[in-house]
Amino acid sequence: MKIICDWEMCENEGIYKAPIERDNSKKYRLLCLEHIKIFNKKWNYFENMSDEQIEYFVKSDITWHKSTKSFGSSENFFNILWNNALEDKLNIFNSKSYKDYKKAKISNTDKDAFDIMDLKYDSKWEEIHIRFKTLVKKYHPDKNQGSKKFENKLKQITLAYSQLKKTMGKK
Ligand SMILES: [Zn+2]
Repeated sequence: MKIICDWEMCENEGIYKAPIERDNSKKYRLLCLEHIKIFNKKWNYFENMSDEQIEYFVKSDITWHKSTKSFGSSENFFNILWNNALEDKLNIFNSKSYKDYKKAKISNTDKDAFDIMDLKYDSKWEEIHIRFKTLVKKYHPDKNQGSKKFENKLKQITLAYSQLKKTMGKK
């Protein structure tokens, strides 16, 4: 009995082993020659990406229409990448926005700040400022029947905003 290629809709014989997870080479699925080639291309593609590139890839509008705040475990992070692997993604690293992003060399503190404000890492100062005003309105006790339930959230947002102001002000 022949084993059929595990690729969706493919009916060729699966004779090449393709690892299922990045860190677990013991688990694999079987693919035909055509699909193992595509698989390897994608695999190498991520393998050669820097953390910065991977992060940009995930945050990018090309991959997501809105930014994703947390990936949970690193395994989940990779699965998200994996599931979103599309052909010819290398072009995004030639894009102006990636070059700007790289130039910006965002610190982890700034990244956290962007995440708290649910903003993309390449947001312009104007966008940050507008977002801040929106968030403050949303979580202010005056807008919540005087309730202080968002006090902590508001504090975090304010700290994030000050952090970004500090960074963006330098440029
Ligand atoms: Zn196949």
